[in-house]
Amino acid sequence: MPKRKRKRRGLLIVVSGPSGVGKSTVVRRLLRQNKNITLSISATTRSPRPGESDGQQYYFVLPEEFDKMVKAGDFLEWAKVHGSCYGTPLKAVKSALSQGCDVVCEVDVQGAEAIKKIVEARKLIVTTVFVFLIPPSVDILAFRLKKRKTENAQVVNYRLRAAIDELQVMEKYDYIVVNDRVESAAEKIKAIINVEKERMLIN
Ligand code: 5GP
Repeated sequence: MPKRKRKRRGLLIVVSGPSGVGKSTVVRRLLRQNKNITLSISATTRSPRPGESDGQQYYFVLPEEFDKMVKAGDFLEWAKVHGSCYGTPLKAVKSALSQGCDVVCEVDVQGAEAIKKIVEARKLIVTTVFVFLIPPSVDILAFRLKKRKTENAQVVNYRLRAAIDELQVMEKYDYIVVNDRVESAAEKIKAIINVEKERMLIN
């Protein structure tokens, strides 16, 4: 009897990098041009910014609700970032991967580290690729953080200092991508995904 072909699981693409480097803009561009890639939508306790809506950029939840989700084991990882909590919903990620979809998780450096540990401990059996997005220079990062105008000067300075610290971990990642232009950074990530998917076929 011919063997039934098992459906290939998707690739988990973890995109991280310092605050203000433009992760969400690059990821949005990547998704717009590649409809077959799924975004993991995180839950957060922070308030929506103008133009953001529930279920689009994030699931906006109250701190009590977030705590319940943590206790229920609903998150693949979660972290406190700049005073608010953010978590990657486990069920949605698992289900998309098992259907063969490639999933992008856009997380801070703590989140990427946590996912790496979970995968290395084989608590989640999945092929992952870790991409670290960096700004072309620290000056450009400072400019981008200020330009966002969503945070006051004190918060911008705090985020900039945190970002410089976060840059120290980049050698732990599989790939480092310079976000010089959104378009080209998204294309580089797509090229990485293509290469990694080829490797999945070989392994
Ligand atoms: P923002 O509030 O600017 O959207 O995001 C703040 C930071 O939280 C960014 O670095 C973003 O990548 C990160 N982030 C978003 N979702 C998650 C998540 O589910 N887990 C973790 N660890 N970080 C997240």
